[in-house]
Amino acid sequence: MSQHQTKYVFVTGGVVSSLGKGVTTAALGRLLKGRGVKVSILKIDPYINVDPGTMNPYEHGEVFVTADGAETDQDLGHYERFIDEELVRESNFTTGQVYQTLIERERKGDFLGKTVEEVPHVTDEIIRRIEAAAEKTKAEVLLVELGSTIGDIKGMAFLEAFRQLRNQVGRHKTMSVHVSLLPHLGTTEELKTRPAQYSVKELRSYGLPTHILVARADKPIPDAILEKLAVTCDVRREAVVPMSTTKNVYDVPVRLESIGLWKVIKERLELPDRDSDLRDWAKMVDKTEELKREDDLEIAIVGKYVELNDAYISVSEAVKAAALQQSPAGRGVKIRWVNSEDVEKEGPRHLDGVDGVVVPGGFGDRGVEGKIMAATWCRENKVPYLGLCLGMQVLTIEFARHVLGDDTANSAEFDLKTKHPVIHLMESQQSVYTKGGTMRLGNCPCKLAEGSLAWAAYEEAAGETTGEIVERHRHRYEFNNDYREQLAAAGLRIAGTTPDDVLVEIVEIADHPFMVGSQFHPEFKSRPDRAHPLFSRFIKAAVKRTAPAKQTKKA
Ligand code: GLN
Repeated sequence: MSQHQTKYVFVTGGVVSSLGKGVTTAALGRLLKGRGVKVSILKIDPYINVDPGTMNPYEHGEVFVTADGAETDQDLGHYERFIDEELVRESNFTTGQVYQTLIERERKGDFLGKTVEEVPHVTDEIIRRIEAAAEKTKAEVLLVELGSTIGDIKGMAFLEAFRQLRNQVGRHKTMSVHVSLLPHLGTTEELKTRPAQYSVKELRSYGLPTHILVARADKPIPDAILEKLAVTCDVRREAVVPMSTTKNVYDVPVRLESIGLWKVIKERLELPDRDSDLRDWAKMVDKTEELKREDDLEIAIVGKYVELNDAYISVSEAVKAAALQQSPAGRGVKIRWVNSEDVEKEGPRHLDGVDGVVVPGGFGDRGVEGKIMAATWCRENKVPYLGLCLGMQVLTIEFARHVLGDDTANSAEFDLKTKHPVIHLMESQQSVYTKGGTMRLGNCPCKLAEGSLAWAAYEEAAGETTGEIVERHRHRYEFNNDYREQLAAAGLRIAGTTPDDVLVEIVEIADHPFMVGSQFHPEFKSRPDRAHPLFSRFIKAAVKRTAPAKQTKKA
């Protein structure tokens, strides 16, 4: 399909950020997919950083890695979880990338001495990138979410580009969705519409009318307010969508479908009418609502950015999905966010009573000793442990220190001079000094060892396995093969390697119900209705552990 057959839905936000615009966009995608539309989603981040790969998670949340190895905005994680389509490098770009391309071209002399300006050069480059995402994904409808809020200076060039693109492709091939907050005033118990009105008006001043208005509020939104919004914002009443805060984000596509939003989109974009198939999705949502909360599992995620749960959003979503899929009726799960520095200072009492521990990815040495202590605690108490990337490296260090007795064992990332670098820098990486995009990133194949827990996990999930899997990576350091034999002889099973056997991808403790670490990030491939095999098996081990009496009491 050529790019001009792709239709575009521009999603913008009004009044404040953190409105759940990413989830709304993802949910619109799921609605369209449920109606048989080939859909993809693009996120535009209007900041100067080239990508979030080098940004502090407190600034930005999780860095989501695509199959083709791009370090992208965490909203892409929502998109993939909702629409269950693999996104690509072109599915996320930033102001920084737009300027980087233009400046490189200018230095090469591409502009033949002309002045390079916001319009047309910046806007053309934005349009080129939007069309590249359409082309690459072959989407029938491409949802384009613009980060930030209308009125913010950093979004202006993008709005101008949307307007121009609309004129280029034809009006019925684009539509605009605006997600806006209705503030609530406690004194009068009122939801206020004026800020949303101003935001829609501001958008119109860029030449962009609003076709769907999603009204966000923490409270239920009365019909009278929706009618008022329709009149004052010049949006059809059936296109004003009440979206009060929900406990379960996966409910949003079902809500959007049930209020008849498909009709609005179908008419505007002139899409062929198709039946909706959200049945299985809706069943998944119902199953979540029916969980018996009193027997929730408790899983600890031990990291250093735990104050911002978004920093590990794919991990916590994978844990929840795996719990929901435990037969027969699913299990609820509570996440205990544990700061690894607290464990480091005060010991593993922070883990008392949990049914399983996840040590997710991370960089730098702060808090890493706490993660190692968590791994010791899991190994000694036979508590299920899942290590993701850094969590796999931590498992290896812990094992080398306490089972092999090399108490100086470490990763070269944390102690460059360690006598026993069981985790070290790959030779090919040793001369790399720039930080952005220089790690092992994206899909790599892995061969599983027969008889391993990992093999059993993948086999159980798919019914069978050839032992060949593909998973996403984001790391610089590797398991050091100089220690492979020694560690294996002491009981650290090498459960997965690259097909050429050069890089160790999965390790596990042989004598343990479930203590597995993967050098890759399985959380990126987990789906709410299809949990990743390693997470499923980990949670299964946690459930098993709760079946007899727990070994330690709840804290
Ligand atoms: N810091 C480690 C490395 O670069 C682990 C990275 C991660 O957990 N994503 O190898």
